[in-house]
This record gives sequence, C-alpha cells and structure tokens, in this order.
Amino acid sequence: MPNIPLRVNSLATEHPNNAQNSDKMPTFDAIFSHLSAVKSQNSHQIIALLPSHDTNWPAALITERLTQAGSKQHLQKQHLHLHLFAEHQATWLKTLAENESLSSPAKEQIKAIYDARVSGCHRLKLANARLIIDIHLGDPLSQLKDLVAPSLASQAIQGWLADTQATDEALIWQMARLSQDNAEFLLLENVDVNLDKTSDNANTNLLTQLIIKAGFTCYRLNLSPEDDQLVTLAEKPSLASQDIAMVERRALRRQQLDKFAFNPLTQGREGETAIIGGGVASANLALSLAERGKKVSFFCMDKAPGEQASGNKQGAIYPLLTPEHSSLSHYFLQGYLFSRQRIKQLLEAGHEIPHDFCGVLQTGHDERSHKRLTKIINAQPWAESIALPVNASQATALAGVSIEHQGLYYPLAGWVSPQAFTRAAIIQAERLGTQTSHYQCQVTAIRFESQQWYLRAVQGGQDGQEVEFGPFANLVLANGRHLTDFAQTARLPISGFRGQVSHIPARAPLKDLKTVLCAHGYLTPAHDKLHCTGASYVKDASNLDYSAVEQVENLDKIRTSYGGEWTKAVDITGHSARVGVRMVTRDHAPMMGCAPDFEAISATYLNHQQTKKSTKESAKYWQTTPASVHQGLFILGGLGSRGLTSGPLAAEILAAQLCGELLPATQDILALLNPNRMWMRKLIKGKAL
Ligand code: FAD
Repeated sequence: MPNIPLRVNSLATEHPNNAQNSDKMPTFDAIFSHLSAVKSQNSHQIIALLPSHDTNWPAALITERLTQAGSKQHLQKQHLHLHLFAEHQATWLKTLAENESLSSPAKEQIKAIYDARVSGCHRLKLANARLIIDIHLGDPLSQLKDLVAPSLASQAIQGWLADTQATDEALIWQMARLSQDNAEFLLLENVDVNLDKTSDNANTNLLTQLIIKAGFTCYRLNLSPEDDQLVTLAEKPSLASQDIAMVERRALRRQQLDKFAFNPLTQGREGETAIIGGGVASANLALSLAERGKKVSFFCMDKAPGEQASGNKQGAIYPLLTPEHSSLSHYFLQGYLFSRQRIKQLLEAGHEIPHDFCGVLQTGHDERSHKRLTKIINAQPWAESIALPVNASQATALAGVSIEHQGLYYPLAGWVSPQAFTRAAIIQAERLGTQTSHYQCQVTAIRFESQQWYLRAVQGGQDGQEVEFGPFANLVLANGRHLTDFAQTARLPISGFRGQVSHIPARAPLKDLKTVLCAHGYLTPAHDKLHCTGASYVKDASNLDYSAVEQVENLDKIRTSYGGEWTKAVDITGHSARVGVRMVTRDHAPMMGCAPDFEAISATYLNHQQTKKSTKESAKYWQTTPASVHQGLFILGGLGSRGLTSGPLAAEILAAQLCGELLPATQDILALLNPNRMWMRKLIKGKAL
C-alpha cells in the first residue's frame, strides 16, 4: 500500500482559536480534529497512547481536559477515557508526572503509580470520572495481549496515537483487536531529534503500511515546533483490504474468547440495575455506576449503610504481598492504590472520612510468620513506596513504641473508617447518579422471569410488609455474609468468619503509637481516644454476640506479637467491641463477575464424564466451553479481611463489565476474581467437581 499524502494541514490554520499555542503545544481538539471517530463533540472519547519520548503534549492534554471538566458547563457531560501504555523501566511516566504543565491531582496520582512500579492496569478517575486514565504498566505487547476486547463495540478504542519508535507489527494487530472498526491511527514522527532522519522515514513508511493493513486510517503527525506540516492524511485502506483486516481482527478476538471461555465476562443488559448491599462493596459499585450515569436501585436490610462488616471504627488498609508476587499480590497492590485514590477523591468532594495514611508496620509473631515475612522481603525488589524492609530500631522509630523485630513497612498504607467510607461513597453516588435507595428492606428471594429480575423483600424492619420490586435488567448481589442466602448462589464456595474488634482506651505509652501495627492481628493508632485491635476469626459462628473470650484473645495477640512495656497499657476490660462477619474464599481473592449457574455446570459435568475423554481433551473442553451463568445476575463479595483494599477496585471492574467496557484488569486477574474459579480450576485439571 503506497503511502500517499493526500492532504497537508497546518493545525494553526485549521483551528484559529488554537493558533496561539498550536506552534508549541497542540491542544487535544487540534491533535484529534482529523479523526472522525474521535470528534471533539463526541460525549465519550476513548483514546490510547503509546508514547516513548515526549511528555509535553500528553501532560497538556490531561491538564486541558481537567480544566475543561472543572469549568465549562457544556463539557460536564463529556468523558475522555485515555489509555497510556508505558514500559516499566521507562522514565517516560516519571517525566510525565514531573511535567510542569501537568496539573494536580493527576500529577500526584501518576507519580504514585510510577513510584509503585506495579505492572498491569492502574485506573485513575479524575473530575468525577469525566477523565479516566488507565495506565498500563509493563511491556506494551504483553499488556495489550492481556486485555480482553470490550464486549460492546462502541466501548472499544476510537483512536491511537503512537510514536514510531514505540510501535511494531505485533503491537499494531493487538491495537486493532481492541479498536472500533472505524478507529484511526495517528503515527507520531521524528520525536527523537537524535534519530537518523532517512532511516526513520523508511521505518515510518513501513509502519504506515502495517497500520493500514490492520484496517486503520493512518495519519502521520509531526509535533516538532519548527515544522508547520503537522498532520498528513495517509491513504485509507481500500474496502477490500478493510474487509480482510476486520476478519483478521474478529479472528484475534475469537481466539482470545475461546481460550478464556471458562471465565465468562458477559456484559450487563440495557436497563436498570438492582444492587443488594450496604457495605464497602456495594457502595463503591453504586459510585462506579453513578459515574457512568447508570440507573440503580439499591436495597439494604439495615437502617443505614455500613452497619455490618463495613461498620468498624477503623480498618487497616494495606497490600497483601506474596513472595512469588502472584496475581493475588498484583491485584491487591492495584486495589490498594485504587482504594487510596477513591478515599482521597471522596475527601476532595467534601465528605468526612476519618482516616490516616500513617503507614502500616508488619512484623512476624511466630517462627513461621517471621520466615514468611523474610521470604516476602527477599523475594522481590519492592518499590520503596510500596514496601520497605526495616530493622527493629527503624521499626521502633516508625511506630513510636518499641518493636523487637525486623519487619516490612508500607509507607502509603494506614487506616480508614470503613463505615464513613461506605456512607461517603453512597452519598456521592446519590449526588452523581439516578439512584433510588431502599433501607430496612431485606431481600428474601430473587426470581428471573421473562428475562428480567424480580426481588421479594420485607420492607420496614422485622414486622414489615412483603413487597415485590422489579423488573430489573441486572441484579448484583453485594450483600456480604448473606451472599449465599439465595437459591442461585447457595453453592458458592465461600465461608463466613466472625470477627470481634476490641476498642482500647488511648493511654500512655500506648497512645504514642504512630503507625498501624500488624502481626497476629492489628492495632491502630488512637482515633477519638480509642485504639482498635483484633480481630478474632471464627468460622460459621452461631451468633454475633459480644465474646469475653475473644476479647482476651485479642489482648493475647498483642502480647504475643510484641514484648514492649507499652503492651501493658492495652486495656480490654471496658468490654467495648464490635462483631462482624467477613466472607472469605479459600484463595483469599474476592468474587467479582457473572454469577455461575452451578446446576447447569454440574449437569454439563455429569454429561461430559460419560463421554470418557482424556484429561488433556477434557481440560481443553472446560477451557474453551463457555461456562454457564445466570443471565443478568452478578456477584461482588468475598472481600475477606481486607475489603478496604480489595473492594473498590473489584467494584470498578464490575461496573466496567456491566457497561461492556474494556476492563481495567489483565486476564489473570479476571480469572482470579471469577466467582466460578474454584470449580473451573478443578475441571480444567481433570479433577472431580
Ligand atoms: P458488608 O459490609 O457486610 O455489607 C453487606 C450489606 O448487605 C449490609 O449492609 C447488609 O445490610 C446488606 N444485606 C445483606 N443481605 C441483604 C439482603 N438480603 N437484603 C438487603 N440487604 C442485605 N478489612 C480491611 O480492609 N481492613 C481491616 O482492618 C478489616 N478488619 C475487619 C475486622 C472485622 C472484625 C471484620 C468482620 C472485617 C474486617 N475487614 C477488614 C473486612 C471488611 O470489613 C469486609 O471485607 C468488608 O466490610 C465487606 O464489605 P461488604 O460490602 O462485602 O459486606
């Protein structure tokens, strides 16, 4: 395909309004004005950038959008979703974070992501989610391959901007897989002044042909200040080659879907979504859906949000690291950064959430836990902002009370009031969206009829009335310990663990504690003259009454973990405590996604058993056969003992799934979170269900 320039434009002449700055810093509208797929008047723009050098224009673009979102009425409804693919080691992201024209809070958040050096997708939500930036950190090809194409074509990427040094054929086809059929490509030329112009030209010509072959209309863009020929419109693919490219793209998508069929990621249906909940999980989901303008009905059995597991005064927020830095550890790190961001956004929006990101200090409490912690410390070069190995005297200085052991310090971690966080997220969701909330409304049964969901509920407390709600296109169960109360979810492999948190008066020298301590249980710095410590861990407990035994156990945990004099000031005799139940999965990952249809899966299993396939054939069958799900029914639960860290990101991923978007998570993490994973792992390994 010859690369014939059809038109040469000067941005300054085409956009007189932008003439002032077009010679140095083209605006968003100027850069993308040539792309019909990314028209500036589109209410939802989805653009991806694969840069390697310049950070000026991305910084200017982000700042411009943030300013517009904050000021111009007519842009309030406009959403820009930016995907940035950045190499791990590349200083590009660091330079972007340091770029003077980049405004807060994007600056701080991008810096936090660079500093953490955690690969995978990091989602930043700015200006009430009118600007979303997904930073895909790591080798761009692996990052692209690991993304699942959005289930709604309209949610795919509309335009790419990549520079010649960052692009190659394999990347281009992955970009094509994630793009809308009419998506366009801006190829950025001559970004490196040191580059030999002749060889760069040849490379650009070759790339242009490859881009066209993959079905894009390709524009060549030169942002150098001295060059006024900013955009060259390259030849579009012919209709025939466009058709071939689309077939190729569909084949790539199908290939991925087949490989991943055991992990259904079906989108929500058009219409209203009902959420059953009232804790951290559902509140964050309601917020994520409100940011997308979705209509939601919210059902909570209590008088107010945050009355069950999410009702503690203080909860520790910190990552869960594993020596091998597994998908679980990755997910918790991404979730931890996302939760911090969510809390900060709610604070900026004016909500009161007692919290302190005062750091968390983790130490061992017996030989086994000391060994495991040492293994975690030595296994990975953790970024300093994530986990810092400290010796006993450093630990003492950080904690403000004596600590006898070496440990791991999480500088960005701390504590937050889960109840206040939950309430703030719900209030914010109500402010932003169209949510109808029903409190004291206990859902007793759910029913799928004529392709819609109906809820039977008791409204108005124990002696309340039976009422039916519906129809709803989608139903999300984010109802904590009651997740398995319904016939459709009774078989989910998940268990409730009762926990009692003890409240301790702040007295010297304990009140000097400056950081959250975490060993055999946790201990928080004082808030409102009380520390929190705990928690007990009792499977399938028969009641949620206060337990004097668990109160003493909580004290013992502190005294076996630390030997300092200050532990004598830990006083549990006031019998002040709070009891809740966390839902825990065997692999400690939350459950997020389509509700599996266990009956259908086991019927298929029994049938499949009779066909006497080899283990290999069987594994392939389970991997490539779409796993059965309940249509329109979704799960968000199993947040375990770290729901503050794991919940908000799971909620955001589920909101994206419901809306058919490109999901902000890699495939391994999506498989880790899938509610059917315990069964599918067995079946794929050829084990009995
Ligand atoms: P919940 O907060 O339990 O919310 C479930 C909601 O669903 C409730 O509001 C309930 O009213 C509603 N509901 C249930 N069934 C129905 C129904 N049928 N109809 C209508 N409404 C219904 N995590 C941390 O990150 N750090 C910590 O330090 C920490 N400490 C903890 C200590 C203890 C003792 C406990 C119990 C948990 C702790 N956790 C901690 C875990 C964390 O609190 C949970 O993971 C999180 O709160 C779970 O949130 P959720 O929204 O899934 O459930």
